[in-house]
Formats: sequence, C-alpha cells, structure tokens
Amino acid sequence: MSDPAPDLLELRGVSKHFGSFRAVDEVSFTVRPGARHAVIGPNGAGKSTLFGLVSGTLPASAGSLLLDGRDVTRLPVHRRVGLGIAATFQHSSLFLPETVLENVLLAALRRAGAGAGRGPAGRRRAGARAAATAQARTLLERVGLPTRHDLPAAELSHGERRQLEVAVALATEPRLLLLDEPAAGMSPAETERLTKLIAALPEEVTVLLIEHDLDMVFELADTVTVMHLGNHLTTGSPDEVRASAEVQSAYLGTTEVSS
Ligand code: ADP
Ligand code: MG
Repeated sequence: MSDPAPDLLELRGVSKHFGSFRAVDEVSFTVRPGARHAVIGPNGAGKSTLFGLVSGTLPASAGSLLLDGRDVTRLPVHRRVGLGIAATFQHSSLFLPETVLENVLLAALRRAGAGAGRGPAGRRRAGARAAATAQARTLLERVGLPTRHDLPAAELSHGERRQLEVAVALATEPRLLLLDEPAAGMSPAETERLTKLIAALPEEVTVLLIEHDLDMVFELADTVTVMHLGNHLTTGSPDEVRASAEVQSAYLGTTEVSS
C-alpha cells in the first residue's frame, strides 16, 4: 500500500478566547487534499471563528495551524492568500459600487501582482490586466454570472452576490477554499446551482465548507466535522456523522440531522 497523501491543512489544538469565553477550544482535525470537507454545528458552535483562525483574520489564542506541514499560525492574511488560502465570509466583503467584473478582476490582479516578476512595469501591467480580465470572465461564467459583468455588484440579487463572492475567492487561485454558509438566504434554485458549482470545482481546489443546509452538506461532503460550544465533537464520513448519537443530541432543539 502506498503512503496516504500528506494533509493539506492540520489544526492542532487551535483555540480562540474572547476574554474568558472559549469560542474555539482546542480543536484538532485534518483536511486532506481534494477533500469536500464540511463543518457543521448549531449557531454559536464556533464555526465562523474557526474559519477566521484558518484564514488569518483572527489570531489564534493557542494551538497551531499547518498548511502542507508548514506552520502558518502567525502569518498575516495576505501571506496565507499567497500560499493558497481563500475565504468567503458569512458577511459579504464585496465592493458594492464596483462592477461585477471589477470585483473579480481586483482579486485576480492582486494574485498576479503577488507572483509578478521584474520587467517594464507599464507593459507588464497591461498584459497582466488583459490576462486577469480573461480569467475573470471565465470565472464569472463558471459561477453562473455570464451576463452580469457590467452591473454594479450592489444591483445583484442576494444569491448572485454569493455566486460573485465564490468567483472572487477563486480568482486568487486557492488550494484551500473556505466557504462560510454560502447558501444562506438563497432560494432553493440558487442553492441547487451553487451545490453544482462547488461539486464541479477541480480537485486541486480543496473545499472547507460551513453550511446550515444539511441537504447540501450531505450531497457535497466526503468528510464532516461537527462542532458544539467551541468543541470538536467528531470528524468522520457523512454516514458516520449521521449515525452518531452525540451529534443527534448536540442538534436537539436546533436543527435535525435528517437523511
Ligand atoms: P458559529 O459560526 O458556529 O455560529 P461563531 O464562531 O460566529 O459561531 O461564534 C462562536 C461564539 O463566539 C458565539 O457565542 C459568539 O457570540 C462568540 N464570538 C464570536 N466573535 C466574537 C467576538 N469578536 N467577541 C466575543 N465573542 C465572540
Ligand atoms: Mg457562523
């Protein structure tokens, strides 16, 4: 038997304390390359806080985070983006007055800028912009917004904004894509389209997904982590998690884990 591939992401006893309150309390689990890994748990479980620790928007109080075995715990957000971690947030981070295309383009150009070498600056910038524009158009098509390029992002519907956020995140060419409740507030048709989009992402993009819509979770995920009150309850296959009595009791009175 060959060795299993090394983990893309490893969380080792990661904690986030707000004063004496432990929003995330010594959470450990791993995410393998190519995974469709969901994080579920009742409101207040610490899921979004955990994503903040992985993306770098929140400093960890304790523990460590490894990307490809490299300790990234103390790296700022932009360095983590450079290493391939991209996130969409529960609360939108779009530039609403800018056009749909410009939102994706800005992210693609930031990525190109991060990797650009030396050379005549003007020509290089024009070339980078043309390449990034083509990439942005392709991404907008992929997320299902092929005819909306010139509208201000503010004019998109709620569901379209979430699609645009995914395109913006993909424009940074992530290896690890963090999606925090991407289907929140979406219509069933929009949720269905988003589910297909995530399912169709190439395997090089590992997905870590927080989602309340458990139908979407169990349709997409190959691995599920359950959090409750800041603690890691379990990580396992969708079937294992569905069958877990501990998970059932954590959800009692909030959301049912249905099949
Ligand atoms: P989830 O995403 O699972 O619903 P969160 O990670 O948003 O949960 O929040 C976990 C807990 O941490 C909640 O009780 C929340 O009120 C608390 N929390 C989150 N951010 C802060 C903060 N900046 N200061 C204090 N408490 C916070
Ligand atoms: Mg949340």
